[in-house]
Amino acid sequence: MGDFTAEYPPSTSEERVIVDAALETLAWSEHAYCVHDEHGVCIASATDCECEKRSPDALDLPEMIDGLVVEWDEHQRGQLVQQIIEFVNDPAVLADLEATGQSLEQCGHDFILTRNGHGAGFWDRGYGAAGDRLTAAVKPYGGVHATVLSVTAEDDPTVLYATVGIES
Ligand SMILES: [Zn+2]
Repeated sequence: MGDFTAEYPPSTSEERVIVDAALETLAWSEHAYCVHDEHGVCIASATDCECEKRSPDALDLPEMIDGLVVEWDEHQRGQLVQQIIEFVNDPAVLADLEATGQSLEQCGHDFILTRNGHGAGFWDRGYGAAGDRLTAAVKPYGGVHATVLSVTAEDDPTVLYATVGIES
């Protein structure tokens, strides 16, 4: 049995579990691209950096966002949270989530992967018509992508702290 029932929308603490799983999925499924200063100089380099102007002190970014210590941009994080809350409070969506037997974590995960059409999302788990309807319900939200806005190294240069935005 899953975590969803058609009769009750998720509680605030359950919504938090879904949101945390969604953010975690976004972090490991999105690449870290170069960060530039106001003069277009690459000050933090992605693994595939080909920037023409590169700072000699440029920090080396990990391949994926989850290799950074992430602090999400509060405003953009708030927009994603609103989208997730709207989605899981839709009665038709709730009925299909119950039918699929999804956990809260899996729902947050699939909400992200389905929006971006990669990995295995709602459409690819053998859920039949319920999976197709959940996929169709997610699609209007469009893609969602994480972008490194700024990055700093403190005492240990291998540990990078980043402010990360969410574009959707
Ligand atoms: Zn670069």
